[in-house]
Amino acid sequence: MKIVLASSNKNKVREIKEIFSPFNIEIIGMDEVVPEPLDIEETGKSYYENALIKVKAVSKYTSLPIMSDDSGLEVKALDNMPGIYSARYAEKEGGYIPAMKKIIDICKEKGEFDAKFICCIVLLNLEKEPLKFEGIVPGKITTTIHEGNGFGYDPFFIPNELEKTFAEYPSEIKNQYSHRARALQAMIKYLKER
Ligand code: IMP
Repeated sequence: MKIVLASSNKNKVREIKEIFSPFNIEIIGMDEVVPEPLDIEETGKSYYENALIKVKAVSKYTSLPIMSDDSGLEVKALDNMPGIYSARYAEKEGGYIPAMKKIIDICKEKGEFDAKFICCIVLLNLEKEPLKFEGIVPGKITTTIHEGNGFGYDPFFIPNELEKTFAEYPSEIKNQYSHRARALQAMIKYLKER
């Protein structure tokens, strides 16, 4: 089975390909089916709406099944922000390190470190209606940044089921516990049962 991945985020593409590697599913990069640069504006009000915008934009070019991922970090001390604005929040702060420092300061001020990563996967062109798969990882924000592997907000997030930040584990571990892994496991289960 072939699935086109509607994402230009190299880190997400890498993680998704790694998670799919044991299965008989070929993930095709969107540049292989879209002949022109595609500037997709994420104007949705939820992860689902944004993921749907991305698959629909690519569906003009292919009738193959298309999937996309929209994800983000929700921090309790920030009233669940940055959420769907996670990438834009980091951009506005001048990068992930200053964004994480700012979030750490707010968490310290409020004495509240709970957070969660959320991922919504949408799969189009398989059934009549788009399919939706979700994954959530509850965890805590650390008081210092632990750079290493991973990307984005990984260096200051410890999932409740692990002891260190996502950035301190090899991708094989993150790919078992992450919000993306959970959403993809739900999608793989659906595809197997189908
Ligand atoms: P999207 O590409 O619009 O879905 O933006 C997702 C953003 O959420 C990323 O650019 C990161 O800022 C953040 N994010 C999502 N998943 C992860 C992850 O696995 N680790 C770290 N940051 C993530």
